[in-house]
Amino acid sequence: MNLSIKAQSISESSTLAITALANQLKSKGINVIGFGAGEPDFDTPEYIKEAAVKAIKEGRTKYTPVSGIPELKEAIVDKFEKDNNLKYKPSQILVSNGAKHSLYNVMQALCNPGDEVIIPTPYWVTYPELVKMADAIPVYVKCDPEKDFRIDIDDLKAKISGKTKAIIINSPNNPTGAVYPKEDLKEIAQLALSHGFYIISDEIYEELIYDGRRHVSIASLSDEVKEKTIVVNGVSKAYAMTGWRIGYAAGPEDVIKIMTNIQSHSTSNPNSIAQYASLAALRGNKDDVFMMRDEFELRRNYMVQRINGIKYLSCNTPHGAFYIMMNIQELKGRKVNGATISSSEAVAKILLEKANVAVVPGDGFGTDDFVRLSYATSIKNIKSGLDRIEAFINSEV
Ligand code: PMP
Ligand code: GLU
Repeated sequence: MNLSIKAQSISESSTLAITALANQLKSKGINVIGFGAGEPDFDTPEYIKEAAVKAIKEGRTKYTPVSGIPELKEAIVDKFEKDNNLKYKPSQILVSNGAKHSLYNVMQALCNPGDEVIIPTPYWVTYPELVKMADAIPVYVKCDPEKDFRIDIDDLKAKISGKTKAIIINSPNNPTGAVYPKEDLKEIAQLALSHGFYIISDEIYEELIYDGRRHVSIASLSDEVKEKTIVVNGVSKAYAMTGWRIGYAAGPEDVIKIMTNIQSHSTSNPNSIAQYASLAALRGNKDDVFMMRDEFELRRNYMVQRINGIKYLSCNTPHGAFYIMMNIQELKGRKVNGATISSSEAVAKILLEKANVAVVPGDGFGTDDFVRLSYATSIKNIKSGLDRIEAFINSEV
């Protein structure tokens, strides 16, 4: 077989793989507690589902414009103005098959072979692969756990080169839960302007932010920054709509136009019914969003306190998204349940096999000292999953 060398260099998504594995075990009757899936456990709110049913009944079942139905693009324009103080024209918006697809389109539109894209580490598993798919090179910048996983600006400066095409910012962050303070965003934006690279700002977790903190879109810092930024967002996380596959991007008209051309030849428009559902979501009040956020915050509080009470384990308090990076450094090298723990992958494997708890190895996020736990699952599951982890660690021999 002589397959594409580039395609063969792309790895499987570890977040999706662990979720699939946990589901496989569940279907065999094994009671697995899943901390793997990065998707809200809540059902899509009823008014959104009703809008989809209505769209089907009204025959909204044809191709739509590639970049999305005008009503949805208007709703996205209004959302940016209301929530982020950003003014866009509909021609600056592209609706895609999930935020992941928006990010794919951005990367294809911006990168030439050999261009460098800066990715703060730990990173969401998909970023490096999207960069590689665009023939560009991922360049990593450390975010120190001791500093709440904030980006290290000096390290960032050191990684900028003549080939830097863009930086990917993800705040609130998957997997660390970090919410970048405005001062950090200003410094990053200043560097982007002075060196002339783009900012790709993935704001998919915008609504899931805790401790009274507020989300700041880096594009809103100034008109100059907005001209260099492509903002990516979507309905998956905020409205519990992961399966509907609607995300969107906003940015300079020329970039959005090229992204739209790429999409026109790959997938055409995103699903028409899901677009009407997303329109209802964005036009609705945010009662359900706030209810889910409040519930996530309670779960986070419980989980942080529990993890920090378990021998050899610890974690920071994340301020956004729905993930916790559990530090396993102290566990490494120890013998638990007869096996010596050597890596984050080993921890994930042994927890799944021996404790029936699914977590994602930190390795796929660019750090082997952690495993990621999602708290997008019920408090009952969280309690029982952590009970299992604690009992397992206590079985050290
Ligand atoms: N960005 C980040 C950081 C994510 O965690 C996800 C989760 N899948 C996405 C983008 C993509 O979301 P979706 O494609 O479901 O809109
Ligand atoms: N983004 C979620 C996660 O990190 C969903 C899975 C994925 O698309 O990676 O778990």
